[in-house]
Amino acid sequence: MQQAFEYQGNPSRIIFGEGSVSRTAEVLSDLGCSRALVLSTPFQNGDAERLAGDLGTATVGVFSEAAMHTPVDVTEKALSITNDLKADCTIAFGGGSTTGLGKAIAYRTDLPQIVIPTTYAGSEVTPILGQTENGRKTTLKSPAVLPEVVIYDPLESRDLPVAMSVTSGINAIAHAAEALYAKDRNPMATLMAAEGARALVGALPVIKDDPKNTDARLQALYGAWLCGSVLGSVGMALHHKLCHTLGGTFDLPHAETHTVILPHAVAYNAAVVPDLLAPLADAFGVEKPGLGLFEFARALSAPITLKELGMPEDGIDRAADLAVKSPYWNPRPIERGLVRRLIEKAYFGEPPVR
Ligand code: NAD
Repeated sequence: MQQAFEYQGNPSRIIFGEGSVSRTAEVLSDLGCSRALVLSTPFQNGDAERLAGDLGTATVGVFSEAAMHTPVDVTEKALSITNDLKADCTIAFGGGSTTGLGKAIAYRTDLPQIVIPTTYAGSEVTPILGQTENGRKTTLKSPAVLPEVVIYDPLESRDLPVAMSVTSGINAIAHAAEALYAKDRNPMATLMAAEGARALVGALPVIKDDPKNTDARLQALYGAWLCGSVLGSVGMALHHKLCHTLGGTFDLPHAETHTVILPHAVAYNAAVVPDLLAPLADAFGVEKPGLGLFEFARALSAPITLKELGMPEDGIDRAADLAVKSPYWNPRPIERGLVRRLIEKAYFGEPPVR
């Protein structure tokens, strides 16, 4: 019997397909905007300048200082440029870091946002913003930061290096995995999570062998959209708590940390909710989804140890202490001994289950 649920959709306009970036001018016009500020990281400045050039007088400038975890000082600099140039919207071209900057500007100004994602992080469809100031990360959730329009064009992610494509894709699968057993799970999120994971599990091996394969890039973006959507609509659990703790405490890279932890967090929870995780197991064609993820990551040459990400071995106990302090809701009780063992396995790259 269907259980009671509540579902909150996040209203964005999604434009999807090969070559869809060519519709950016039309989107600007639909939003009633004519003075866009294009955002990117320093690395993607060339692409941002190309986009601004293509849009001509509909843009007023390019700001290419977006950085990981949305530092507030970068946001303040971008805000001052936004005001000086009288920009009336932003176009974030890039991954989660650039999207985060667009969201941070929108939070302070309510300017409309267009996002052109070039990774699979999924931030573009969530009302969540993480920001850092004085080394401290805080997260807020507000409809004010949800981008108005997202343009998914596979041609813009064809150059995402294979290693980053794989970890970014597994980062997206992490959102789907935790949506399947979320406390506030609902039929819509479950459908999107199962389909998103299926799409990414199919696309990533093709991208590994043929990074310019447009169909696979399209399928991966489709999966990223669905997985990002569920991240924005239901609560996350042990896996995301562990990744935030490890990333923040040891300054570990975002997508890689998700990649290493996910098989272990999923195995931890699969022990009590195997039925809820069945769609993920099905995506890998296995019975144990944690092991399926571990073998998948290994086959794609993704990192499988926290050690190789630079975490110190004596951090295992510290991480276990922090992970059990003010834990997120989780379907399986968070027990320090078990969580310590989970982190230890992830540290050394042991399979999550034998
Ligand atoms: P990123 O945006 O930091 O990108 C990493 C690097 O890859 C950057 O130098 C970027 O310019 C480059 N890059 C991006 N796309 C490329 C492409 N197609 N080709 C070549 N290089 C490319 O990485 P990310 O993993 O997308 O985002 C991580 C950040 O996003 C973290 O700060 C994380 O906290 C945040 N995030 C937020 C949410 C949310 O809902 N708020 C969700 C997911 C991630």
